[in-house]
Amino acid sequence: EAKAAGRNAIRWFDHGMLKDDDGRLALSAALRQALEQGELSLAYQPQLDLATGQVVGVEALARWTSPTLGPVPPDRFIPVAEDGGMITHLGNWVLRTACEALVRMQEELGHPLRLAVNVSPRQLRGRAWLEEIADAISSAGIAPAQLEVEITEGLLIEDHGDVVAMLESLRSLGVAIVVDDFGRGYSSLAYLTKFPIDKIKIDRSFISEITCADNDAAIVDAIIVMAHALGMTVVAEGVETAVQERYLRERGCDEVQGYRYSPGVPADDVVQVTRALSG
Ligand code: C2E
Ligand code: MG
Ligand code: MG
Ligand code: MG
Repeated sequence: EAKAAGRNAIRWFDHGMLKDDDGRLALSAALRQALEQGELSLAYQPQLDLATGQVVGVEALARWTSPTLGPVPPDRFIPVAEDGGMITHLGNWVLRTACEALVRMQEELGHPLRLAVNVSPRQLRGRAWLEEIADAISSAGIAPAQLEVEITEGLLIEDHGDVVAMLESLRSLGVAIVVDDFGRGYSSLAYLTKFPIDKIKIDRSFISEITCADNDAAIVDAIIVMAHALGMTVVAEGVETAVQERYLRERGCDEVQGYRYSPGVPADDVVQVTRALSG
C-alpha cells in the first residue's frame, strides 16, 4: 500500500515536474534554497551482521521535505543536484552531518558503528573531495575505517586512470569502498579486479525475487561466492522477509539491510531502533 503510494508519487513527479525543463528548473531552484535554509535532513538505516544479528552500521540517506513541494525522494533530487552543480555542496553537507551524528549515536549506544555514505560520480571529480573526507573524519573524531563510501557501477565504467587513483587514495585514508546496487548495471565484471573494492551491495531487485525466481537466486549465489573469492564482504539490500533472510544466511551473505529490520530513521531514533534489533 505504502509502496503503491510511493510509486504514484514518483509518477506524479515524472509527469508533473520533471519532464518539462521549467519544472526541472523550478525543482533546481527549490533545492538550492533548501540547501541554504536547511530543509534537508538525513535518515539512517541499520545494517545487521547476519551471523550475529547485531546492528553493525547505518547508511545515511538524504531526505528533503519542501514547504511547497512536499517530500521529494532522493532519486529525484540527487540528479537535479548533479545537473545544477549543487552535488558537491550537498555531498559535503551529508558527509559532515552524518559523521557528527555517528559520534552522538555511538556515545549513546556505548559501542562503535560503521557509517555508509552514498556519493555520486560527479561529486568525486577533483582532489578536493579527498581532503573534504579526511577533514570530515578528523573533525568528527571517528576512525577512518568506520566510514564506507558507496559508489555505483557507473563510476567504474568512466575513465579508468583517474578513478582508480582517486579510489586508491581514498582507501589509503583507511576508508572502505562499497559498490552499491551491484548487478543493476550492465557493466563488465572485470572492474572488480581493477578497482580497490572492499564490499559489494547486492541490488535489491535480486533480493526481492530470491524466493520466486530461480535465476535471481542463482545470481545472488554467484555474487556471494565471487565476492568472497575476491576477498570482499557482501551485503544484501532491500531484505523484507524472513524467507529472504534465511536464504541469504544459508548462502553465507555477511550483512543485511532492509525494511525487515528498519527503514531509515532520524538520528535521534537510531539508538532505540538499534537496541530493539540487537535485543
Ligand atoms: P541506495 O543507496 O541504494 O539506498 C537504498 C534505498 O532503498 C533507499 O531509498 C532505502 O530507503 C530503500 N530501501 C531500504 N530498504 C528497503 C527495502 O527493504 N525495500 C525497499 N523497497 N526499499 C528499501 P532512498 O532513501 O529513497 O534512496 C534512494 C537512492 O537515492 C539511494 O539508493 C541512493 O542512490 C540515493 N541517495 C540517497 N541519499 C543520498 C546521498 O546522500 N547522496 C547521494 N549521492 N545519493 C543518495
Ligand atoms: Mg546506498
Ligand atoms: Mg543500493
Ligand atoms: Mg540506489
